[in-house]
Amino acid sequence: QETAAPAEDNTLVMYTNAEFPPFEYFEGEKIVGVDVDIANEIAKDMGKELVVKHIDFSSIIPAVLNDKADFGAAGMTITAERQEQVDFSISYVESIQHIISKNDAEILDMEGLKGKKIGVQLGTTGDLAISDAVNLPEGELYNSGAEVKTYKNALEASQDLLAGRVDAVVIDKLPAEEIVNGNEGLKSVVFGDISEAYGICVKKGNEELLNSINSTLQRLLDEGKIAEFIENHSK
Ligand code: GLN
Repeated sequence: QETAAPAEDNTLVMYTNAEFPPFEYFEGEKIVGVDVDIANEIAKDMGKELVVKHIDFSSIIPAVLNDKADFGAAGMTITAERQEQVDFSISYVESIQHIISKNDAEILDMEGLKGKKIGVQLGTTGDLAISDAVNLPEGELYNSGAEVKTYKNALEASQDLLAGRVDAVVIDKLPAEEIVNGNEGLKSVVFGDISEAYGICVKKGNEELLNSINSTLQRLLDEGKIAEFIENHSK
């Protein structure tokens, strides 16, 4: 008599915030984007079926920590603080913070943000950079009257910018360009000079998954596929 093999979980669960084009965004009900294309390749290489879940950016690491997600992929910058909580893959994209504002606003760099209302996405590297600049005595915007408004995601922040409720939004380069290209009357300039590297995060010590992720990422980088995915998802 044959005994059935134990049912194996054949899914690979990715958590993301699908409001960050071109990396992840909704196309109708479906989540698509650069990170989803990458995750599909990871799943394919592992012989697994990819499941993608949408959540606030600041809830992605917690979902990885309590095993709801196998990994988080969300244009997430590898930072020392996050590395205390999770393990990151090799870096797959380089980025830098940008400032988006209305065309007629005289905001060309950090200096231009003095006394302004600045929108950021909660818990992102842009949020940290601006909050430090505004709130810390050594910050460049300290005592300038600048105010920080936090948003759950990039799209909400850009809507408020268009409506004039904030003067500027600080956000990663490629999402900034998507927002500018998708809306009339906005411009985007580089903010600061700190380059950031994106990585995929897993639970600390999950080496087996991390190795699989890294080998797929390395293959995609070698094949020039990540640049292709970015091109395909850019306006
Ligand atoms: N790269 C930024 C960060 O990691 C923003 C990511 C995002 O908003 N999805 O904080």
